[in-house]
Amino acid sequence: MSSTDQTPDRLYTAREPIFPRRVSGKFRTIRWWLLAICLGIYYLLPWIRWDRGPNLPDQAVLIDLANRRFFFFWIEIWPHEFYFVAGLLIMAGLGLFLFTSALGRVWCGYFCPQTVWTDLFILTERWIEGDRNKRVKLWNAKWDFHKTRLRLTKWTLWLAISVATGGAWVFYFADAPTLLWNLFTLQAHPVAYSTILVLTLTTLILGGFMREQVCIYMCPWPRIQAAMMDEDTITIGYRDWRGEPRGKHRKAEGAEALGDCIDCFACVNVCPMGIDIRDGQQLACITCGLCIDACDEVMEKIGKPRGLIDYMALSDETRERAGAAPRSIWTHVFRVRTILYTALWSAVGVGLVVALFIRSEIDMTVSPIRNPIFVTLSDGSIRNSYEVRVRNMHGEARDFAISVTPDDIFKLEVEGAESGVFTVPPDATELKRVYVVAPPGTDPAEAQSTGLRLWLKDIAADEQAFTDTVFNGKSLR
Ligand code: SF4
Ligand code: SF4
Repeated sequence: MSSTDQTPDRLYTAREPIFPRRVSGKFRTIRWWLLAICLGIYYLLPWIRWDRGPNLPDQAVLIDLANRRFFFFWIEIWPHEFYFVAGLLIMAGLGLFLFTSALGRVWCGYFCPQTVWTDLFILTERWIEGDRNKRVKLWNAKWDFHKTRLRLTKWTLWLAISVATGGAWVFYFADAPTLLWNLFTLQAHPVAYSTILVLTLTTLILGGFMREQVCIYMCPWPRIQAAMMDEDTITIGYRDWRGEPRGKHRKAEGAEALGDCIDCFACVNVCPMGIDIRDGQQLACITCGLCIDACDEVMEKIGKPRGLIDYMALSDETRERAGAAPRSIWTHVFRVRTILYTALWSAVGVGLVVALFIRSEIDMTVSPIRNPIFVTLSDGSIRNSYEVRVRNMHGEARDFAISVTPDDIFKLEVEGAESGVFTVPPDATELKRVYVVAPPGTDPAEAQSTGLRLWLKDIAADEQAFTDTVFNGKSLR
């Protein structure tokens, strides 16, 4: 504070660097496995091949923007089926609600890309510069050859990870082997290079240098999650009623009055967010469980029961303080709120699976041409025109025919297809102009508008699809 008033001298304090110490234990092992699985999926998925036949891409997961398709193993999503993507996003949202209300910030601690990549960068840093004490010493050391060499090695490895991360992303949008070759021979599209550059820089800056600041200051999710958590949500807590009063000197006079916490700071030193969980639950805590591993190790060494720091629900904390036993984890996980989220999540999932299995492999959309709305032919007939977009989702070319009902009044003609039959190439969309004519004096010719149905028939498969539209007559004039 300035000496003259209450205005702070600086609005922002400088970041205190954090040097998390290596720790081993149950939660660290889980995190190593999840890190390997998440990174493995991300980097390797575009390289998995999937045979879809001669006319379709053989990449298992591909977002084909040029042809407006999304391929996921045996599933192919077309633009008019965007509801599948919307459904998956809804499921992802409900899944996050479910996991947050049951297990707190489990997403942040174990699955979030920011957490996973930061973990990878810290692992690299520790590998090059050593564990916490060595890194603190290096940080405080003057710049010399040794420090410069270590820093340059670390930054080079970080850059390599970042380039690989940005590079892997673009492989989801084109055939990976072809794009890799094009990238190296400088034949790839500039968008590919600029995307890699942007993602390389964001990965390097967010994962390497900003780390915990992204979670604390940039990410909105910690604020939103607080609204989804209640007293039954499992989160990280410190059993202060068991640990306090904390103190190091176990053999000193009065030590028998001390709690189990020996104030060794092991839990603080391993924390990737640089916080002290003994101060209570905090927005910065991503519930990664590393402080549990560190403290359990200490408790084992001093012959005290594990779990001074533990995953626990607030309601159990209250019970334990009163001397009662905590309830089982399942009573916290299975409650009305989580069952409701699970039911909603399952309903959307079942709906999507059913929609996937009953969807037709042919489809059309019909757009009436409004300029002009109708044409009066020389014999007095009224003619309406439509643009019909025919989609052949099969892997081979198919013959199609378009017809109209009621067919006792309307006559239909497909431009460029005298016989009424036309061929659509495999996995393609064909735009056709269709004319529907109502003879003079008929109701549709005289009325303002009459409903009609256009039918699309896949001749080989005897499969049909239809779309309802309207026919505009003379009364519209
Ligand atoms: S306090 Fe514990 S659980 Fe929270 S971020 Fe730090 S190490 Fe992870
Ligand atoms: S690791 Fe356990 S004993 Fe050590 S300071 Fe943290 S809570 Fe106390």
